[in-house]
Amino acid sequence: MTDPRRRLPAVDVLLAEPAIAALAAAHPRSLLVRAVRETLDVARANGGEPPAEGWAAAVHERVARAAAPSLAPVINATGVVLHTNLGRAPLARPAIDAMARVAAGYSALEYDLGRGARGSRHAHCRDLLVELTGAADALVVNNAAAALLLALSALARDGEAIVSRGELIEIGGSFRIPDILARSGARLVEVGTTNRTHLRDYAGAVTHQTRVLLKVHRSNFQVTGFTADAPAAELAQLARASGAASLYDLGSGLLLDLSPWGLAGEPTVHEALASQVDLVACSGDKLLGGPQAGILLGSEAAVQACHKDPLARAVRSDKFTLAALEATLALYRDPEAARREIPVLRMLTEDVESIRRRGEALTKDVGKKAKLIDGESEVGGGSFPGAKLKTVLVQLTADRLTADGLAGRLREAELPIIARIHDGHVVLDPRTILPEQTATVARAVRAALDA
Ligand SMILES: *Cc1c(COP(=O)(O)O)cnc(C)c1O
Repeated sequence: MTDPRRRLPAVDVLLAEPAIAALAAAHPRSLLVRAVRETLDVARANGGEPPAEGWAAAVHERVARAAAPSLAPVINATGVVLHTNLGRAPLARPAIDAMARVAAGYSALEYDLGRGARGSRHAHCRDLLVELTGAADALVVNNAAAALLLALSALARDGEAIVSRGELIEIGGSFRIPDILARSGARLVEVGTTNRTHLRDYAGAVTHQTRVLLKVHRSNFQVTGFTADAPAAELAQLARASGAASLYDLGSGLLLDLSPWGLAGEPTVHEALASQVDLVACSGDKLLGGPQAGILLGSEAAVQACHKDPLARAVRSDKFTLAALEATLALYRDPEAARREIPVLRMLTEDVESIRRRGEALTKDVGKKAKLIDGESEVGGGSFPGAKLKTVLVQLTADRLTADGLAGRLREAELPIIARIHDGHVVLDPRTILPEQTATVARAVRAALDA
């Protein structure tokens, strides 16, 4: 008997098959050849069995998979507004347009158009940040982690930084305050206890080596019960009296007071600056709702020290970030426009009735396997820990699929849908589904339920 593996077609024969040759119109030949070879490898491994769906379909599937971008857009139906795994903040239209404009051609990134000479990339967002926050000076870097690393290096390298034991936190993605501090070249001096740290603890630890009093916002967990901590304003005062600097790692860059929408407890950038610390570090893509960025705000001396640090170059932001951040910040000149147009703020402040209407539209489109239930959304991204936002969820019931099976099918949609499982059902939260995505979601859900 002949080995069936010998009967497999040759690469060239498959490439010449009209249904496979036609793929060359849309894909580079190298990709096609690789897909044909891999399809043959699979058949050989299966003892010479041709693919069940036929050669052309198998090659087609492989080419499509290889050609698809790895960093693909998805629909966030989880209700977690700042979902770090899903890219945090979707950008406002003006920010997207600004990015596209500088991407398509040259820009005045480091060029002073007035003088016709070299300028600084740091000029672009600086004035807007100063205008919006009242800080004396500002600097934008790659992300908030980089902002903290740079600030500690600039202010405390080879000296001591005093931190409360209650604030030696991990943010996620292995970002731990003690590790960042060590990398900055500063020596960590721990004071207080996990639940209680007083101003006198800091004061007792100050030596002639002290360079920085660091306050870290506990952005992703809550400490309740018998607790105490020293307010930033008192740390700032103690630092001034001790000849040291004060630094406040705020995490989120909240520029609007969201308490009228039931979101309280997260300090705003204005509140942090009002404490008179020398430097505040915050994020551009958490509550600010812009691109990934780290923002340093504070006194001229502290910001200039950051500029001069050798790490500044290593953590500087790129032109897309600066363009998107500038456009996002410009929206804050009219707080109501910011709330409407910055997607993160719109989602966080959307009222339940509006979410219900969008849920109803979705439910109607999907049919009787969908129904509305009350539920909760989350802010996410290490901000407003513990805060729950009332929402309305679209609960799905599949006849022959488990909840996990249905969630898997939704992730296979052309525009993958990331859903949540709640009480054994797949649920979709309209809060984080962009308004223009409703019809796409309904179509994908129908297909997943019917398949
Ligand atoms: C999120 C966070 C950071 C890190 O911010 P990235 O933008 O992710 O780099 C640092 N400090 C605090 C307190 C945070 O919440």
